Formats: sequence, C-alpha cells, structure tokens
Amino acid sequence: MPTVASLVRVGRVTFGRGVFAQKSIEKGIVVGQVLGKVIDDPNYATSYCIDLGGSHSLEPRAPFRYLNHCCTPNCRLVLTECEYEDGSPAPAEVHVEALAEVPEGAELTIDYAWSAEGAIPCLCGSVQCRGWVVDKSELAKVRRSSRRAAIPTPKSPPSRMPRKPR
Ligand SMILES: [Zn+2]
Repeated sequence: MPTVASLVRVGRVTFGRGVFAQKSIEKGIVVGQVLGKVIDDPNYATSYCIDLGGSHSLEPRAPFRYLNHCCTPNCRLVLTECEYEDGSPAPAEVHVEALAEVPEGAELTIDYAWSAEGAIPCLCGSVQCRGWVVDKSELAKVRRSSRRAAIPTPKSPPSRMPRKPR
C-alpha cells in the first residue's frame, strides 16, 4: 500500500497552496485519510473545516488541508460513519477518493458543493465552470440573488474545504 506521503505533496498555486500527485493516481483509489483535529462544537466554523455531521467538525492537517475546489473535480471526500465500542456514534472518518485518473504532477481537486449562502465567484478555470463555488443544486438560487445584489469581487480564490461534502 502506498502511503499518503508518497502519493501527494503540497505545492504552490497562483493563490496559496494546493495538493499535487507525486505519481499517477488511478481512478477509484482511496488517496488517503484526511487527518486532523476533531472539534465537538455545533457553532465551529473555520476556513478549512469539514462538517462531520452532528456537532462534530474536522480541522484537517496537511496535505489534504490544501485541497482546492474545481467545478469538474478529480477527487471527492468520502465520509464513513463510525461508532465507539459501546455502539454510540463517533465522529465520521473522511477519505479522499480519486474520481478520475490523476496524472503525475496534476493538482487534486474536490467540489466544495457549498450552499448558496456561502457561494463566492469561482476561478477554477474548468471549461464547465459554474461561475460560483456552490453546489449544483443551489446554482439557480445564487444566480437569482446575484441579479438583485452587486456581485462581490473576491480578494482571493476559494481555499476552503466544504462544510457539507457529498
Ligand atoms: Zn469553477
């Protein structure tokens, strides 16, 4: 089994950091587990945290802390429900799975799938870019509200992990 450390590395992107394949990663491969600090606080919210359901959030460590959004991502986050030995629910585990082959040197990306309330303009550069960092099902809502209000110009592109990965 290749280790996460041998499969990916953190590198520079135009704005901040990203995660890159050290060697070609096959479709369907579990690239690694997103490790970090689990916080039990329903109001916890930071730039990178992942919603684990219930009152738990995961504040991820490198390398996967630096996964960027793309509207046509090559990876996704998979949440696995966990329980303690006594059967009570434990915080979910999060893994990164390749949705497509990721060639050596390419950046690993996920779809942040944010709700319309949190949407910001997207700069992912994909030919199928939705124009917003937002879940597909929320896009119509964003477009409606953006016609009423001036569209904010982001100072920097998204660098956040999804609050609700699917
Ligand atoms: Zn995009």
